[in-house]
Amino acid sequence: MQRIKSLFVANRGEIAVRIIRACRELGIAAVQGYSEADQDSLAVKFADKSVCIGAAPSKESYLNQKVLIDAAKASGADAIHPGYGFLSENAEFAEQCEKAGLIYVGPQSSVIRLMGDKAAARKLAHEAGVPITMGSPDPITSPEEAIEIGKRVGYPLLVKAAAGGGGRGMRVVTQEGELRESLERAAAEASAAFGDGSLYIEKYLSPVRHVEVQVIGDGNNIIHLGERDCTIQRRHQKLVEEGPSPALSPALRERITASAVALARHVGYRSAGTLEYIVDAAKQEFYFIEMNTRIQVEHPVTEMLTGLDLVKMQIRIADGEPLAIKQSDVRVSGHVIECRINAEDPEKGFMPRPGVLGEYTAPSGPGVRIDSHAFPGYKLPPHYDSLIAKLLVWGSDRTEALARMKRALGEFKISGVPTTIEFHKRLIDESDFVEGDVHTRYVKEKMWAGHPTQHML
Ligand code: ADP
Ligand code: ADP
Ligand code: MG
Repeated sequence: MQRIKSLFVANRGEIAVRIIRACRELGIAAVQGYSEADQDSLAVKFADKSVCIGAAPSKESYLNQKVLIDAAKASGADAIHPGYGFLSENAEFAEQCEKAGLIYVGPQSSVIRLMGDKAAARKLAHEAGVPITMGSPDPITSPEEAIEIGKRVGYPLLVKAAAGGGGRGMRVVTQEGELRESLERAAAEASAAFGDGSLYIEKYLSPVRHVEVQVIGDGNNIIHLGERDCTIQRRHQKLVEEGPSPALSPALRERITASAVALARHVGYRSAGTLEYIVDAAKQEFYFIEMNTRIQVEHPVTEMLTGLDLVKMQIRIADGEPLAIKQSDVRVSGHVIECRINAEDPEKGFMPRPGVLGEYTAPSGPGVRIDSHAFPGYKLPPHYDSLIAKLLVWGSDRTEALARMKRALGEFKISGVPTTIEFHKRLIDESDFVEGDVHTRYVKEKMWAGHPTQHML
């Protein structure tokens, strides 16, 4: 029996459009909650109904829990989808939705709480037999304690925010003398970004790749949908995602996906989720870094590889349906690459440069998927992140996917704001990338070597 007849979208941009599309295909009415800056957005145009939830600053709209829940209730919605970013990993919000009688499209609030504290998640992973890097078992309580941990794990180490996300509140520390200042700065950044300054420490491993495993479950039947490789980053933030990972042997793939399922089962996971790892490709070792208890930006990579619709599956599971597939039904076919097209100036440290789009001509044709909320004349609000579009291509193998991405990037025309398109064109021609021989510092250390803004990446 379908309980969800109407769903409130508590997010914006391309993910709001993505969620509305899923609703439409499921015969569910979509209600878009929008801020004053998003009045003319594609999400508002596509939704069945839309409600203004406040002023442009996120704190007054997309982060305002009470306003969102009241708006959802008043609109007659039965469910709420948090998307990614904003309140998508806020256990309090999930709990308040549940209390208000709204179906929260995501895991149980208790599971969000468990995994949302990244230091606690590391402990849990360790309990479930999943390898983690050396580091502090709990959030650190004093600089002296951090210095002791530093002596034990060795340098370089990474100071990380327990509530972290989006690459923020993270600092690489190369020697003990830098530790105090790094702790202060990371704590300040984490307090400002997440309202929580608690920090923990991990051994900083380099060179490594970022590989993550998509899982989905209904609380009982919990399976994985393969991996995505998100090694191409700047400032610990992803720029390109692809699958399957060019760096995993079949044996390592087997181990890493099995560990992800083990950990998801350990917490009785319900909904879609992602377990992130760093991988030492030379040693064929992997280490769990965090779990994202939400839909991820790069989920379409998995959708194109498996033919599954993750957002519809999330909604069905939230509605109480059991997961309709089992592990042996999952087939990964071909190769997919996603490039994040952001309004950023790669020549100036990838700084966000929102503005008004002039031309917006997106590529299409065989094997191309665009997830975007942009259109010619669209005004990118300065209040939110700078994503304009996700460009994805499918190829029967990686070689075809690379050629197709090159072709599609050539068709992509955006004027009015600087974008990452030229960066991606350069990357796709780098022989190291073509050969799959990259690491998470590749953009900074190889592509930007000697560049005046190298220190910013
Ligand atoms: P993904 O793994 O899905 O790529 P990211 O870490 O890039 O996730 O974050 C997805 C989006 O959410 C980005 O726009 C990022 O800036 C934002 N984000 C992530 N975590 C937080 C957070 N705790 N608070 C605010 N925004 C966040
Ligand atoms: P966030 O919550 O901001 O997404 P993550 O813990 O997922 O933070 O880490 C983001 C990125 O930082 C990773 O993709 C990786 O590039 C780098 N990173 C994180 N932990 C380590 C580590 N222990 N050693 C080396 N790099 C790391
Ligand atoms: Mg992460």
